[in-house]
Amino acid sequence: MKPTGTAVDSDIQGVKMTDNIASEQFQVKPDYNLGVCILASGSKGNAVFISSGDTSLLIDAGLSGIEIERRLKSRGLDPKNLDAILVSHEHSDHIQGVGVLSRRYKLPVYINSKTRKAAVSQLGNLYDSKNFECGSTFTINDLSIHPFSISHDAKDPCGFTVNQNGTKIGIATDLGIATSMVKAHLKGCTLLILEANHDEKMLINGPYPWPVKQRVKSRIGHLSNEESKALLNELQHDGLKHVMLAHLSETNNTPQKAFNEVGQALTRCEPHLYVASQNECGALLLLK
Ligand SMILES: [Zn+2]
Ligand SMILES: [Zn+2]
Repeated sequence: MKPTGTAVDSDIQGVKMTDNIASEQFQVKPDYNLGVCILASGSKGNAVFISSGDTSLLIDAGLSGIEIERRLKSRGLDPKNLDAILVSHEHSDHIQGVGVLSRRYKLPVYINSKTRKAAVSQLGNLYDSKNFECGSTFTINDLSIHPFSISHDAKDPCGFTVNQNGTKIGIATDLGIATSMVKAHLKGCTLLILEANHDEKMLINGPYPWPVKQRVKSRIGHLSNEESKALLNELQHDGLKHVMLAHLSETNNTPQKAFNEVGQALTRCEPHLYVASQNECGALLLLK
């Protein structure tokens, strides 16, 4: 079966594609303990589904509610089984569907106060809003969530780690630089979802106006393939089993470039490497 999203074939040494993907039939009671599916990734919308079987979350919901429902159902996932939505920051590619899904499925939305304030008009009334603070761990049933601050041009943006009984998932997209705090939080993950936004040459030579190029390259913009490679090089360890490259620019990157460049970081371990897609829902990846 094809791996997640637009993952591309590669002959890079030490990088292999995977086949441990869930059945796409509709599941009433999931028979896994940790599953992850990137519903969409990129500047037109982001959403990641994470489930322990008992507890299911969306991290961001940056497509329309209908499109998120469609993508979940395409992987046999029932939106009625969602328990919560977590919000990383207020940019519309992360919150477009949050309000409607919260109201439709009576979902609490976990969001920090500055982000909530900045997003209030786009979110509308939420079924329930739960405040978190970057740096403070909270739990949703059997999932332990740790939000950590990232450097991005939003009010109080964060990445997340999600820990289920010792298995850790790290998510860091929308960051201009990987600070030492980001690196510390992303250590020891089984699955990393990392930004590989742009190829630096494509950005510089591409069609964006210069101020936009500067913003993307800045400390509060997005990680390039090169920066993502350096970060992954530091984070690799024997327990790292899966790496998903995310939030690729459709204008200033290609899945093949991101895969090839960032994949070179993996010199000391051999995780499965994937590239998440904007337009297609990824496969449901089972971690355990
Ligand atoms: Zn974004
Ligand atoms: Zn953003």
